[in-house]
Amino acid sequence: MNNTTINIKSLVRENILKLQPYISFRDHNQFNAPVFLDANESPFGECNRYPDSTQKKLKNRLAELKNLSPSQIAIGNGSDELIDLIIKIFCEPKKDSILMMNPSFAMYGFYAAINENRVVQLQLDENFEIVKDEFLNKVKEESIKVFFLCSPNNPTGNSIDDIEFYLQNFNGIVVLDEAYIEFSGRKSSLELLDQYPNLIVLQTFSKAWGNAGARVGMAYASEEIIRLVNTVKAPYNVNVLSQELILKTLDENRLNENVKTILAERAWLQQELEGMECITRVFPTDANFFLIKMKEVGKVYGKMLENEILTSRRDPAIPGCIRINVGSRQDNEKLINLLKTILL
Ligand SMILES: *Cc1c(COP(=O)(O)O)cnc(C)c1O
Repeated sequence: MNNTTINIKSLVRENILKLQPYISFRDHNQFNAPVFLDANESPFGECNRYPDSTQKKLKNRLAELKNLSPSQIAIGNGSDELIDLIIKIFCEPKKDSILMMNPSFAMYGFYAAINENRVVQLQLDENFEIVKDEFLNKVKEESIKVFFLCSPNNPTGNSIDDIEFYLQNFNGIVVLDEAYIEFSGRKSSLELLDQYPNLIVLQTFSKAWGNAGARVGMAYASEEIIRLVNTVKAPYNVNVLSQELILKTLDENRLNENVKTILAERAWLQQELEGMECITRVFPTDANFFLIKMKEVGKVYGKMLENEILTSRRDPAIPGCIRINVGSRQDNEKLINLLKTILL
């Protein structure tokens, strides 16, 4: 299969192809000292103007940072919104399906269900890798339009090997969710965009960048796909305050420093966790969290909760397992000190 021949248009829902994007005139033109009487805004208020619907400044900065064109970038209200929009663009309700790994990020299935698209699951093997034969088998099904490939995967923490295999052997859209890529030590697959017109890479400001509250996520893809995302998104999907905050805090040095600190904490946590009486297995991780198999998951989870240490229980979907993320040194110490007291 040669994917340079993929016709993206043939994958898009017909009603979406016919849509005209909402164009905010002021955002698509240059002015020197404009008088804004075009959008029924108030002259008063702390945040009285609509945000830039094209998120120009943010895209220009990201384009510089990622060595791409601004036309290859779409900005969402978190990458969650972009997941929803991608499903809406390519999957006909009640007819088409998405493919996702199991276990993986629940939001893919959530938005598919809202859009009335079936979810086909790829059961991961005991190392949480994809079984390639099963993948090849499943993608024979014509209704599958989008494959959500999460690497590093949430909630398992591991990176998925051989990304290009999935791009080469699927005639639909591959959404590569890189929400945790900064923690992984592996290269981003952004450099594959030129080669694979069916690739969409998702990244986010919510994890390594430390701005989950701002709700800003990115989709990187071909101009053709980005145009579609920009067409279906709500025009003012990212608010003024979030755009400003992200621009103000978009400092790669600070990012790298924070990631370094979190990775050092991760190493310390791993060492501490591995000796614990209540723990059976700490799975290898490329992210800022651990999937941990507990001896008595109910008891351990309950004990943490009793002490107001909130973690993410994955049992029974992943038997015996809890997902715990790396926090501040103080948070991590509280966790370790408590776990030490749990004797089974
Ligand atoms: C946290 C996370 C995201 C980020 O979602 P936002 O909406 O950008 O906060 C995306 N994908 C995965 C797999 C995640 O774990």
